[in-house]
Order: sequence, then C-alpha cells, then structure tokens
Amino acid sequence: MSQDPYDLLGVDRDADTDTIKKAYRKLARQYHPDVNPDPASQERFKEVSRAYEVLSDPQKRAAYDRGGDPFAGAAGFGQGAGFSFTDIMDAFFGGGAAAQSGRGPRSRVRRGQDALIRIDVELAEAAFGVTRELKVDTAVVCGTCAGSGASPGTQPVTCETCHGVGEVAHVQRSFLGEVRTLRPCAACRGFGTIIPDPCRECSGDGRVRSRRTLTVKIPAGVDTGTRVQLADQGEVGPGGGPAGDLYVEINVLPHDTFSRRGDDLHCTVTVPMTAAALGTTLSLPTLEADVVSGQDSGVETSFELEVKPGTQSGAEHVLRGRGVPGLRGGRGDLVAHIVVETPTRLDPRQEELLQELAAIRGEEQPTGQVKASQKSVFGRLRDAFNQH
Ligand SMILES: [Zn+2]
Ligand SMILES: [Zn+2]
Repeated sequence: MSQDPYDLLGVDRDADTDTIKKAYRKLARQYHPDVNPDPASQERFKEVSRAYEVLSDPQKRAAYDRGGDPFAGAAGFGQGAGFSFTDIMDAFFGGGAAAQSGRGPRSRVRRGQDALIRIDVELAEAAFGVTRELKVDTAVVCGTCAGSGASPGTQPVTCETCHGVGEVAHVQRSFLGEVRTLRPCAACRGFGTIIPDPCRECSGDGRVRSRRTLTVKIPAGVDTGTRVQLADQGEVGPGGGPAGDLYVEINVLPHDTFSRRGDDLHCTVTVPMTAAALGTTLSLPTLEADVVSGQDSGVETSFELEVKPGTQSGAEHVLRGRGVPGLRGGRGDLVAHIVVETPTRLDPRQEELLQELAAIRGEEQPTGQVKASQKSVFGRLRDAFNQH
C-alpha cells in the first residue's frame, strides 16, 4: 500500500483544499471504526487520516511536496500545534472515535437505587421479632417494554449526531491552539442510541412505579435505628437494570412499663412504706406478657419480686436473662428499681399510729444524718434513661 498521501486520498497533485476535504470525508465515512470495526479498516482509516493531516495543512503539504518530512519540527504524529489526529475525526464526526477514547456510549441499563422505609414497632416486637406486611412504592421493570424503553416491536437506533459514540467534541480556539473537550452528546444524552418510539407506559425509562406488599421478617433484638436489608427489593434501575436493596429502618415505640437500655429492660416498682418495712412479694409482668397469652405453656409472663423487710428506695432487683435478646445471641436483664412511697394523706387514726411508732423508735425529734452528696441510684437511672 502506497504511503503517498495523494494516492491514499485518491486526489491529483494540484487538488485544491475543498477537493482534498471531500475525498477524505468520503473515505473516512467508509473506514470509520464505528462503521467498520475490523482491524484492516481501522488501519486504513488511520492512513487516510494521516494523509489528510498532511494535505490539509499548507506547511506540511509544502514540506511533503519538497520531499521532506511533513512532521518535522512537530512534537510528533498527532501532536502538531492546534491540529491533531482526533481533531480531524471530530471535525467530521462530531465525536471522539470509540477506538480512540476507549470510553464509548454509556449504557441505558444501570443498577437501581437503594430504598429506605421506616416502620414503628412495639418494644416486644423489637425484642422477640415480628413478621410485617409492608406496602412499598418502588420502581419496577415496565411490563410493556420489558425494560427496553422502546415501544413493543421497535428498536433503538444509532444516534446520528454522535454516530453512536455518545460523546461530542467541542473545539475552542485559544492562544494555546485548539482546546478540545469531550462532552456527552446532547441529542442522545450520551447513550449513543435514540429511541424513536418510546414505550408509552414508561416514557422510555424502562420502569414504572408500583405499589407492592412485601412480607418482612424483623429479627429478634432489633432496636431503634437498626436497618433490615432486603436484597434486590429496592428501585429497579433505568433500562430494566438490576434493583437496588430495600432497607427497613426500625423505630421502637415507647413502652408503658419498660425502658430499654441496650439489651436490658428497666422498670420502676413503687411499694408502700409499710410494705418496704415489713417485706412483701409482688407479681410483676415480663415483656413476654405483651406477646404471649396466659394460656401458653412454658413462657413466663410474670415473675415474683420479693421485697425484703427493710427495703430502701433505690434498691434494684435484677432478673437475669429476662431483658431483650441480643441480635447476636444472649439476652439482657430485667432490672426493677424500687421506689418506697411515703403516705401523703393520713387520717387521724393513721397519724396516731405513726406517732406512736415514732415514739417507740425514738424518732420524735430526728436529727437527720448529713453525709457528703453522692450520685444516687436514681441519678444514675435517670441518666441512663436520658441517654436512651
Ligand atoms: Zn415501558
Ligand atoms: Zn448522540
């Protein structure tokens, strides 16, 4: 194959600029990598482009005609100031050749986004797990076009603006020469193809919004802020792309009796002054009472709390293993905090009895015991609740 640029372009020695340009355009269209991706055509395309680079530049053409090297003095092939191999192609095709840029058009098919929904659950549901029916509103694959975005029976066609490359070059002249930048093709939004007849159902997006009902198993031990991941149940991607994940974020509602701190449950038990002094036994519910009816065998829905004679306000009773199950096994404790209640309204008889008791105990004129202040059990408990 001759390397003579005139032969390569098939023009006469005295051909004018216009003739050279037309000849190159014709050949370039024929051998452009987008049209003819085979290696021989690509090689030919480079040759004719190089020939055009010489003949379209008066200085290089003159150098060649004199028998010299048309690229002498330039930084190298394709690096001539303000004039490069890719510039030539862009001038004709309005886009970087895929073979050169290596980027190519972007796919219409992309992975969908993750979706997040928040649900309220009762404390017992969070502790022991629950199965919920959830209504979720996400994008699903369009049933009419199966995600392609094209009306049934039609196909996307190659974008004429960028010839399927998805990018167009913008060349700006500056004192440095020509500055060339690639931008996504506006005509096809970078896809390289255009859907001439978009699906009416999804307007060409390949997906539609749909409300579904999902059954979600909330595991035992979740807490406020825990996210349960449901793989592939999020938004379907554009062009029928794979779905993202769905996250169900838990919000645990406040409970009438129990406060939760980590895996422990705390409750406050108020006992009358007399019971605290004399001792008693109380029957208190466990968290299981919320979810299990009394007839179910084997599950303790209550426990016996022994208040020993002389119990003080602030005393704690810890029931091991009756708190909240941990997500990774184990189970927290149930902690009952005793509050001794002082009677407020005394009838004459009660007052008489208490005064008699005070006299017997030598407590008619108590001095009170003054000690350095220390953080009380209640202070710690209050802090714990406030943290939560
Ligand atoms: Zn559709
Ligand atoms: Zn385009």
